[in-house]
Amino acid sequence: METPVFYRQELLNQKEFNSNYSSSSFSNNSRMRYGPRQLLYTLASLQPIPTDMNATSLAQDLLHFIDASPSPWHAVSSAEARLLAQGFTPLDESRQWQLETGGRHYVVRGASLIAFRLGSLPLTEAGFRIVGAHTDSPGLRLKPRAAISGDGITRLGVEVYGGPILATFTDRDLSLAGRVVLRGEPGPDSRLPETRLLRFDQPLLRLPNLAIHMNREVNEQGLKLNKQTELPLILGLTGEGGDAEAALRRMLADALKAEASDLLSWELAVYDVQPGCLWGAEREFIADSQLDNLASCHAALTALLATEQPAATCVAALFDHEEVGSESASGAGGSFISDVLARIGVLSGLDEQDRQRALSRSFFISADMAHAYHPNFPNAYEPAHKVKMNGGPVIKTNVNQRYSSNAQTAARFIGFCEQAGVPYQQYAHRSDLGCGSTIGPTVAAQLGIASVDVGSPMWAMHSARESAGVADHAFMIAALAAAYAG
Ligand SMILES: [Zn+2]
Repeated sequence: METPVFYRQELLNQKEFNSNYSSSSFSNNSRMRYGPRQLLYTLASLQPIPTDMNATSLAQDLLHFIDASPSPWHAVSSAEARLLAQGFTPLDESRQWQLETGGRHYVVRGASLIAFRLGSLPLTEAGFRIVGAHTDSPGLRLKPRAAISGDGITRLGVEVYGGPILATFTDRDLSLAGRVVLRGEPGPDSRLPETRLLRFDQPLLRLPNLAIHMNREVNEQGLKLNKQTELPLILGLTGEGGDAEAALRRMLADALKAEASDLLSWELAVYDVQPGCLWGAEREFIADSQLDNLASCHAALTALLATEQPAATCVAALFDHEEVGSESASGAGGSFISDVLARIGVLSGLDEQDRQRALSRSFFISADMAHAYHPNFPNAYEPAHKVKMNGGPVIKTNVNQRYSSNAQTAARFIGFCEQAGVPYQQYAHRSDLGCGSTIGPTVAAQLGIASVDVGSPMWAMHSARESAGVADHAFMIAALAAAYAG
């Protein structure tokens, strides 16, 4: 199919941008191996990715995905909507499954989702090609009895989920999204509880800063917030003799058009209602909440949806609870991934030995965001591993296995980048700083399969408003599509 000219131009512009910004500090790390001819080839080889989607529209599609996904439960629902629209069908873990060659399905467990497309080759020959990412982001979550009233003001008590940069949640237009469980309609046997998604669109909550006149050292010391006493969010003024807890329940029930007495329980995340945007002189950057790691979820899904008739069985595994260690029934440390792969194996006629043969031929790509070099803080980075924004997917290595990459799996991912004609970079954390981790080592250990840790560059990881590169997102999708196809 003819490649639209504007797409070609977009990537050529990007190449120009890259070379303009290639300072010597990046030269050790960046491998700009692609030229215009390779780009055309790349685009031709990526037929399944809609050719009307250039890097900017892929980035805008990511912004829509994030804006539709203010909580991990919403992220799963957004992913489901895309999968259903492309002919994937849901499988219920509590029912019998029927699978056919080439079948497209997905399974949901909590706020985790595994989508797969069965390959044309037997699993014992081609194995699974799995891209993993996480649906959760660090932030604030409502406590079960959240309402606090005093001094005429109602506040909501929150727990800190994972490791957010708390100061970035101040003075932002915050609201609530998540899931609520209601007493169900009376049935023949019992009143089964009903789970519903809930999202307030309007700014509902706020964490106002203390004025500098009462916090004179804030610019020298940074903003320090006590998690118990200084994080409750302001909801409103308490009415005369009002019962704040009852008012909160009524507010939740009204939003669901339900009776407050039918509200049984809920999990609600605090989110920023400001939509994402493109920014920068050339609109070359993305700003949004939850880029870590909804950008990778979106990239994995987009690549999977673009994959036509793969030889290997292709899997996109989106997990909840990565930010809190992955140890849960639906997390990457739980049984979800091994249960689903085992079940695909059984339904494909594999016995235990065949299942292990299939796993030994499988490959896991843990896609999570990477730290781009920030020129204001040069000392925070390993000098030989300065990752450049819009410089392509980053391969992350850590000899202490905080990342799962090794020489062989990194080389394999480099092969996918070369196949896709996209640049790639390498990242190692400073040796004198503690390194973060991902689902990569967890899944690799659990399944015993070859694994690599990769991610798109970003700034301000775990801020309420993070930044990433427009071209990087398209590069990552192309690399993952090559991994599924190759
Ligand atoms: Zn992450």
